Amino acid sequence: MKIISNPLELKKYLQTLNVTIGFVPTMGALHEGHLSLIKEAKRNNAIVVVSIFVNPTQFLKGEDLDKYPRKDDADTKVCELSGVDILFFPHAKDIYTEDEVSILCPKVRGFVLEGFSRPGHFNGVLTVVNKLLNIVSPTNAYFGKKDAQQLHLIKLMVEQLFMRVNIIEVETMRENDGLAMSSRNVYLSKEQRKEALKISSSLKTAFSMVSKGELSTCGITKIMREILSPLEIFYVVILDRKFHTLKKVEIGNSIVLVEVKVGETRLLDNMWL
Ligand code: AMP
Repeated sequence: MKIISNPLELKKYLQTLNVTIGFVPTMGALHEGHLSLIKEAKRNNAIVVVSIFVNPTQFLKGEDLDKYPRKDDADTKVCELSGVDILFFPHAKDIYTEDEVSILCPKVRGFVLEGFSRPGHFNGVLTVVNKLLNIVSPTNAYFGKKDAQQLHLIKLMVEQLFMRVNIIEVETMRENDGLAMSSRNVYLSKEQRKEALKISSSLKTAFSMVSKGELSTCGITKIMREILSPLEIFYVVILDRKFHTLKKVEIGNSIVLVEVKVGETRLLDNMWL
């Protein structure tokens, strides 16, 4: 496995190869969710590039940028063992300059849900994803469905800026008890870890209510809120594929999204209905 930290060196190197490139951007502290993206990329591309970059511009003031889990050595091993061809480990100073051209996320869909409580977060996400995609120029780039709003906005960016990459969506990997895997799960105490199960349990209930014929989004989210109580809820909503709100679930075209705070940790999850 090649490890490259300089963006221009990586870009030049990749330009010499005339092969399909699968790209998996991450912020490190790799878990099995990340590995499923890597596996998917390996299956369909001649080479796989993984980036590890804790992107400062997507963290708001006072958020967990400084304490975000970093496991560079373990992550390098994991990538090597997973058959990654190139690990891109850039430094912030090589990605950002002082006076930046920036990408702005859409004014409505970028400032609802997670973007409402973290205004500007998605500007940072789209800016860095744009830069990374331009450096790597992958054939296919892999993103998790767990971060549904992020995935939606990345797909919008690629479509609206007429970018050439294929965005591939990968299913959410869960622990055996249903908790969606996340680098932030390490922040949870034993007690909080138990409380966090209310998230997947509320989603399962939504799914089972729909299976039994309940289609009122208000009715479903009310019960979900009861299950999630007393956790601090940022949102529990049911939207369509284009992220518009729905009064009635449209089976196959509806996603239920949840974000809560467990202790000091924000956790999000979702399920297609
Ligand atoms: P992160 O390192 O948290 O920025 O995540 C990097 C990529 O992995 C993003 O596309 C995430 O959506 C994806 N990802 C994170 N957690 C999971 C999971 N549990 N299952 C599948 N993909 C995930």
